[in-house]
Formats: sequence, structure tokens, C-alpha cells
Amino acid sequence: MDWNLRTCGRRGHITYAPDEEQLRARLHARTPLGEAWRCLRCGDYVLGRPRGSGPADNAPEVMRGRALRDAVILRLLAVERIARALLILAAAYLIWRFRAHHDAIQRGFNEDLPLLRPLAEKLHYNLDQSSIVHTLRTVIEARTATLAAVALGLLVYGILQIVEGVGLWMLKRWGEYFAVVATSLGLPIEIYELTEKITVFRVGALIINIAAVLYLLLTKRLFGLRGGKAAYEAERHEASLLEVEAAGTVPPGRPQRQPVP
Ligand SMILES: [Zn+2]
Repeated sequence: MDWNLRTCGRRGHITYAPDEEQLRARLHARTPLGEAWRCLRCGDYVLGRPRGSGPADNAPEVMRGRALRDAVILRLLAVERIARALLILAAAYLIWRFRAHHDAIQRGFNEDLPLLRPLAEKLHYNLDQSSIVHTLRTVIEARTATLAAVALGLLVYGILQIVEGVGLWMLKRWGEYFAVVATSLGLPIEIYELTEKITVFRVGALIINIAAVLYLLLTKRLFGLRGGKAAYEAERHEASLLEVEAAGTVPPGRPQRQPVP
């Protein structure tokens, strides 16, 4: 998949006319239809005036290639975190509300559950063995103070997920550290849940989270891995310096694109 072309298709090309004469000549082309400038992201020539101009050092930092792919993956992860946070906060709110109507709901539960019994028996469904009923009963029978603590715990957890999601979305290094630490702390709980019952959803969540931790640790060189921050910055710097430079030269193994007529 060509991330550069996909992104240009969605957000448009980024053309820039550097003040430096040599560099300018390498990004510029004359066509019968007028001038064309080379896109800093995908490398195609685009007809028309450049989007910006100035010294090469002030050229917009364009994410391309691997950096662009990384950004897309991190933002998908961010969306997943935010969606999960909203579910957790909704649960926290419901439990908080429910805590006040504790007695009424407990009475309702005890009165209505027997009504379901004949139906359940016809379906050969044992209500007393049902994990859903068991969970509901545990929550309902919990003391008000316990429920308040559960709601508060969920609230904190939900906020942490939002912080993680925002950090990842903004592609911040602290967001990556935050995600690795928070996700790692959750892994033992997920493994413990698997020892209770193995479901497709639980196995899937565990695999995604382990993959996310490894991906962040290795590609972002967190905690000094693979040369750490210095190597990470050097890699980025090299890539962004290359952008302007390589945009004007033929990448190895690729035929030179002709200016779009
Ligand atoms: Zn482009």
C-alpha cells in the first residue's frame, strides 16, 4: 500500500518553492500548461503555483513513507483507546446512578427473576448457573460504598484511556510511553481473565495489546531500545533532510516520473 499517494489523495499534494536556486530548479518543471512543482510527499509533479515558498529550512515537515505509516497505526490505536474510554465512562456513570437506586433495583431483580424461570426451564437454561445473572447479582448485592468505589475506579481508568488516546493521536513521545506503560499494566489482568474463560474477544484483545506494546517499544525505540531517543531523532532528521533533497533526485530503482501535462 502506498501511504504517500493515499494521503495525498485525501489531503492534497504539498508543493513548496525553496529560495535556494539549485534546490528550486530540481523541484520545478515547465510544461506547456504552465509551471509544475514536485509534491514533497508523493513526488509527483503538480500543476500550478506552489503551496508555499521560502528557505528550505522552513519547508513544511511532511510525513512520508514509514513515518506516515507509523502515524496511521498510532492513530488507529488512539481511536480504539478513545472508544474504549467512552464505554468505560458510560459504565462508571450508570453504576454511579444505580448506586442511589440500589434498593429498588434489587427488589425488581428479585421479583422479576422468578418470572423468567418457567421460560428458562423450557429452554433448558439454568438461571442459577448463568454467568450474566451471577455477575448482575454480585453487582446488585454489593454495598453502596463498594459501588461508589467501582464507579470511581472506572472513572479514573476511563480518564487514563483518554489521556493515552490523545497522546497517541497527537503523535507525542509521552503518549507512546504512556501507552506502553498503561497497556503493559493491563496485560496481567487480561491473562488472568483468560485463565477463567477463553473467548475469541479476550484472546483478540490480548494479541492486539501485546502487538501494540512491542510495536511501540521497537519502532519508537522507547526506554533506550535500539539506540533510544538519539537514534530515533537521527532517523527522523535524516528522513526529513532527505525529503527536500530526494524530492529533486531520482529514487533508486524507480523511473523518473514525467511532468503531468
Ligand atoms: Zn503528493
